[in-house]
Amino acid sequence: MRMKKIICAAMLVLGAAAGLTGCGKPKWEPVTSDSLYVDKVENLSEDFILGMDASSVPSLEASGVKYYDYDGTEADVFEVLAKSGINYIRVRVWVDPFNSDGKGYGGGNCDINTAVEIGKRATKYGMKLLVDFHYSDFWADPAKQMVPKAWKGMDIDEKVEALYQYTLDSLKKLKKAKVDVGMVQIGNETNGALCGETIWMNIYKLMDGGSRATREVFPKALIAVHFANPEKVTNYADYAKKLAYYNLDYDVFASSYYPYWHGTLDNLASVLSNVAETYGKKVMVAETSYAYTPEDTDFFGNTISDGGTIVKDYPFTVQGQANNIRNVVDTIANKTANGIGVFYWEGTWISAGGSSYEENAALWEEFGSGWATSYSSAYDPADAGKYFGGSACDNQALFDAEGKPLESLKVFGLMREGNVVPLKADAIEDTNLMIDLNGEIVLPTKVNAVMSDNSKQEVDVVWNNVDYDAMYNGGVAKYDITGTADGMEAHCFVSMIEFNFLENYSFESGDDTGWKATAYRDMNELYVENKPTDSLTGAYHYHFWSEAKDSVEFELEQEVKELPAGTYKYSISIMGGDAGDSDIYAYVKLNGEIVATKALGMTGYGSWDTAVIEDIDYNGTDVITVGIYVKCSGDGNGAWGKIDDALLNSVSK
Ligand code: CA
Repeated sequence: MRMKKIICAAMLVLGAAAGLTGCGKPKWEPVTSDSLYVDKVENLSEDFILGMDASSVPSLEASGVKYYDYDGTEADVFEVLAKSGINYIRVRVWVDPFNSDGKGYGGGNCDINTAVEIGKRATKYGMKLLVDFHYSDFWADPAKQMVPKAWKGMDIDEKVEALYQYTLDSLKKLKKAKVDVGMVQIGNETNGALCGETIWMNIYKLMDGGSRATREVFPKALIAVHFANPEKVTNYADYAKKLAYYNLDYDVFASSYYPYWHGTLDNLASVLSNVAETYGKKVMVAETSYAYTPEDTDFFGNTISDGGTIVKDYPFTVQGQANNIRNVVDTIANKTANGIGVFYWEGTWISAGGSSYEENAALWEEFGSGWATSYSSAYDPADAGKYFGGSACDNQALFDAEGKPLESLKVFGLMREGNVVPLKADAIEDTNLMIDLNGEIVLPTKVNAVMSDNSKQEVDVVWNNVDYDAMYNGGVAKYDITGTADGMEAHCFVSMIEFNFLENYSFESGDDTGWKATAYRDMNELYVENKPTDSLTGAYHYHFWSEAKDSVEFELEQEVKELPAGTYKYSISIMGGDAGDSDIYAYVKLNGEIVATKALGMTGYGSWDTAVIEDIDYNGTDVITVGIYVKCSGDGNGAWGKIDDALLNSVSK
């Protein structure tokens, strides 16, 4: 208490200097952590939105879930969120998510009454509310924009009137309940569809109905439109142009950003800045989330876990989750024009609390605390009615399965000033090896530890019980070899591959044996580099960099010796950046003449592009050469890149 008064007095002094009056925040002592590493996000204004979608909370509480404070005492989860630095709550609103018997479709059964309850609790703890109208009776997303039951069969004008009236009535309920509504979202992930309509003129008319109703009830609230898939780089410019053409009255152009699906942060900043600068709109991230564990906690499978082909720039750990959140906020705050905030999606959506699938299924059905119930089949028989069940994102929550807040929840509060604690290894990065069946299996002796600031450090590794004979004799196959590094589990994924006719295909000799590089310009750097983090596989790759504009042009090729007649395929991979205008391609030459090419692109760090040239017919006598040609004007200055894993395999015909 005393501490608060001191802070308050200090603020008054500062406030007087800045022309402010009164002593407002903080209402709580700032959160602290002695384990979570957080880099400060510069330039975060006090009203920069650090939001949380908490739509499932009432249904989970009805299921018996309790939430706790950091000291383990039971607490109102909205108070815990506010204390942790969250200043805005988002709630989805469905028109009528119930069947004719009054049974809820699930996903929190979120109608306007749920929104009022959540809004009151948010307001109580000093947080504003973003009302996310889906204008559907259940989930709306790029794949699904179903018309509410009550509006089915209406023509567009009737539907617009119904939507306007519904928005008006709903917002009036929130106003009557004295909810601090700061923003209203007219449609959810409306990528070219809304409320069953797919023609932009109709989509605009519906959005306009929502916009007019919002201006009437909450004239000071921001009006947001919301889209997904920023990685499809022309979409947002296209949507914003259409909305401008129809002159829709809105303030905020919002995007979903799920990092494992939605491209790089640089791309996100670029597509949002383009809209912000072209149309003078505010922009934000309306949904983002990241996994703190690959494990499921509620007996219902999750959308994201280990394996598959997802892009994973951070480990699935509490620290990795926090680093991801911090970097999304930093991107919107500092690298995006007119960025006003970031909402985390459903950080409170945890297990319904049962100890088996059956126990949880009963809770999901009764209280709607899973993503969908069997009752949803009346409305959405093809998807929800078929695949109903629990939470598919409990491993992306910011509370554990028991309702205790994760340390990563504190990142929202801590990123304002930063929280630099001693670095430690947080996870071991997976190693990927491709080994030719005629080659020698050599597992690495060192692997990368991902540190708490997401940097990497090499550490020693010991692999468990490797059955080399089985791998040599097992043909083309994949192996997951486990080991221990720095006390943590390490994985080496080994792909035993068909015979590769290229020598030193992955540059693991540590030099350019077998290869010939020809620089056509005066390049600063062109050599084999030892850096596992920048290699596609193994420790080495072919590196290039040049500082001056228009200074990157070279080819790297290998003349293939003693290749039998037959049909072959050739592939090679590249990643890099700052390419500017570029001409990059893999090629095959016969007797010095190029006979086949395949284009490649450099789209940023870690984005490997692989070219495959199929059906190369070889007569056994011509001189055959395979290679890669790279020419970049450079984006501003010069360009950089990495080349790895050239393969020439025979193809049976
Ligand atoms: Ca789950």
